[in-house]
Amino acid sequence: MRLRAPLTLESLKARTEPRWQWYGQDAELGECWCATGRGVRLCRGGYARIDVRVRGLNWSTRRLSAHIVAWLLDHLGPMTRDDLWLAYCEVRASGLQFDHRCESTDCIRPSHLNLCTQKENIAAGKERQYQRDLARGPIIHYEEEPVPF
Ligand SMILES: [Zn+2]
Repeated sequence: MRLRAPLTLESLKARTEPRWQWYGQDAELGECWCATGRGVRLCRGGYARIDVRVRGLNWSTRRLSAHIVAWLLDHLGPMTRDDLWLAYCEVRASGLQFDHRCESTDCIRPSHLNLCTQKENIAAGKERQYQRDLARGPIIHYEEEPVPF
């Protein structure tokens, strides 16, 4: 099999569609790049995965988290599938996670992703939930049952 052109963030972005997520999303975050289309699968938790054929593994196909691939291509620049696979393994081995600042797990926009520990990831999610609850207003506790219409 011939070597294919290096993967780029642009080639991955072509498999997304822009979408605004509106539950307390920061306007400054901008729109999400939601993975969709050819070669994209939505898996457990709504995370998008893409299939990548790796030469160093006898051209076997690896199913990689699309947001991790996007983050790597953004930070390290265009790279071959083999380089991508190695970098991907390093990220997975580090135990670090990606917090989706936009709360949309199918989003792959690098600026929406924050590399962090699991503890930080959970804390950030709770903080956003708290801010959403605040924006929604106080919960009203009735002294008595309201009389239905
Ligand atoms: Zn997003």
